[in-house]
This record gives sequence, C-alpha cells and structure tokens, in this order.
Amino acid sequence: MSSSFLPEQQNGPASAQLNGLVTPVVCYTKCMRNHASPFGRHNVDGCGEFMASGSDPMAALTCAACGCHRNYHLREITYEFYVLPPLPTVISLLNS
Ligand SMILES: [Zn+2]
Repeated sequence: MSSSFLPEQQNGPASAQLNGLVTPVVCYTKCMRNHASPFGRHNVDGCGEFMASGSDPMAALTCAACGCHRNYHLREITYEFYVLPPLPTVISLLNS
C-alpha cells in the first residue's frame, strides 16, 4: 500500500522510506514562562509537563500545576509508526 492514500498531515519523516501509517503525537512539556521578566531577570516556575485544569475551553488551556497558559509550555511532536500488513495479491486470492 502506498502512503499516497494518507492525508498529508499524517505523513511524517519516516513515511517516505517505510510502508505504514505515521501518526503525530503532540505533548506539552516544560513551562518556559519567565516570571521575573518585570525585574529584568529570568526565572521559570519549574513545571515539567502541562496538565489541563479542567474540561471547559478556558480550563483546558490552563496548566493545573503552574497556572500558566498552554502556549508557555514547550510543544514536542513525536511520531508513532504503525506498520500496515501487506495487502493480499490477486495470485494468493486465487490459490486460496
Ligand atoms: Zn508555568
């Protein structure tokens, strides 16, 4: 199966070389908000991973641990690769 059947957003760097499905997984890690910028300093709160405060739209973008907006956290994208099973060929269907 060719990866050309997949939408362009789901194709990661490995899809050109391997036959499978690549799914991007986005996670938000370390908080980078500078809490000391009014004083001309650099001091972050040490929060290591974004966790949503709640399910409503405003709380979903606020970190439960440090209270900062999700955009202050580093955005990391990893790719999960799923190998697709080979498609049956016409010859193997005729023999079965
Ligand atoms: Zn924070």
